[in-house]
Amino acid sequence: MSETTAAQYDWDLFVIGAGSGGVRAARTAAATGARVAVAEDRYLGGTCVNVGCVPKKLYSYAAHFHDAFEDAGGFGWQLAEAPRFDWATLRDNKVGEIKRLNGIYGRLLEGAGVRLINGRARVIDAHTVEVAGERHSASKILVAVGGWPFVPEFPGSELALTSNEVFDLAHFPERFLVLGGGYIAVEFASIFNGLGSDTHLIYRGELFLRGFDQQVREFTRDQMAAKGVNLHFETNVERIERVEAGLAVTLTSGEVLEVDAVLAATGRRPHLEGLGLDALGIELTESGHLRVNERFESSLPSILALGDVTGGPELTPVALAEAMHLVAHHFSETPTAPLDYRNIATAVFCHPNIGTVGLSEEQARAQCGAIRVYATEFRPMKHTLSGSQERCLMKLIVDDASDVVVGAHMVGEEAGEVIQGIAIAVRAGLTKADFDATVGIHPTGAEEFVTLRTPTRR
Ligand code: FAD
Repeated sequence: MSETTAAQYDWDLFVIGAGSGGVRAARTAAATGARVAVAEDRYLGGTCVNVGCVPKKLYSYAAHFHDAFEDAGGFGWQLAEAPRFDWATLRDNKVGEIKRLNGIYGRLLEGAGVRLINGRARVIDAHTVEVAGERHSASKILVAVGGWPFVPEFPGSELALTSNEVFDLAHFPERFLVLGGGYIAVEFASIFNGLGSDTHLIYRGELFLRGFDQQVREFTRDQMAAKGVNLHFETNVERIERVEAGLAVTLTSGEVLEVDAVLAATGRRPHLEGLGLDALGIELTESGHLRVNERFESSLPSILALGDVTGGPELTPVALAEAMHLVAHHFSETPTAPLDYRNIATAVFCHPNIGTVGLSEEQARAQCGAIRVYATEFRPMKHTLSGSQERCLMKLIVDDASDVVVGAHMVGEEAGEVIQGIAIAVRAGLTKADFDATVGIHPTGAEEFVTLRTPTRR
């Protein structure tokens, strides 16, 4: 940073939002010697730590015990009495763990020399932010405010919970209804079903998880239904009413379901309300996200943005990678290549889990021309004794001309863990011949990924 800039502004970088992207950008920029402040009005660590990935995964672990107790019998384990789930223990232990993580985030910022300011920030002009009644000038302002749940309006929609509240319910909902067909809806349906709720998922489309591989979607539907989730497709919620025993949810099919809680997992919108950017005429995309270039600059170049507010893949590792790139672009002398958004692996923590990287079969058919599909569905070895009917799907998509593996998909236990490794091979552009030349690890389910020899279809 030049002497002039240092003298001209209070800060080299003022970050709004101490979530996944904001904290990483603040710390990394401070490590280059920049003077950095970050404003946060709610919780350190943002959505992921407080009401997203972390509590969700902890609750998913809790829900998996349901299957584990059932599976144990076939391996000779006798439980003295039927296991009983205590919601308050899970919820309160989760609260303790998140407090610990909040503390770690605070210490990381402090250790990096970043000043943390508690309060809701508002952008006044291209170089000024107001927070907690104080104005700060900055050479660059980073908008890392994330997203906020969106609930469509219908009669009684105010009775629905969002993912912001669902982790902290006072009482466990014995009867649970999820509205939505995205990955968050599917995950919560599996979680509450596993914890013991009588669970319904309502989705207006013909099948959930739009954008994922069709075979993966259909396989997941069948596995979730087999585990007891009541799936209602091409159906919507017409209204919700409070009744004596809970909530009465009237569906467009005419059916009325009585439940204890309704979760609207109906999408997220950029969290721009009250931020003041509209007054500055900053450009938005058609979906209302902040439009940024490869250097994460908005249409007002001193105002930068990253993470969910920019509408890219809404994932924590993406926000983190963007933060590293942003800092390299703006606070280092070395030129940096733009972030490569291809082949970003993701998991859906429904039960069984989904792990996926690269192209779906449908995308590959459209983009590659001739392809080979290698798919296998099987009963994992564990379930030969457990008695569980859970099955596993593994699938590779290969570009026929180059032999490059362009997509890998799995539905099964720990699919995210398996696909994280496969993602390196797919990103590196390895061929099916490379997969074939890899000696498997036996006995694992994952070895199927290197022993698929005959194309299932072309
Ligand atoms: P956020 O982490 O949302 O941080 C934004 C921060 O800005 C918040 O702390 C907010 O309080 C603060 N803020 C907003 N406005 C202001 C203001 N005006 N002044 C001061 N502070 C402000 N991603 C995964 O990779 N894996 C998962 O398994 C996963 N599961 C998820 C489950 C759920 C239920 C949800 C909702 C999300 C999940 N995500 C997951 C997505 C992930 O949480 C987000 O992609 C990630 O948090 C985005 O980071 P961010 O920095 O853009 O924003």
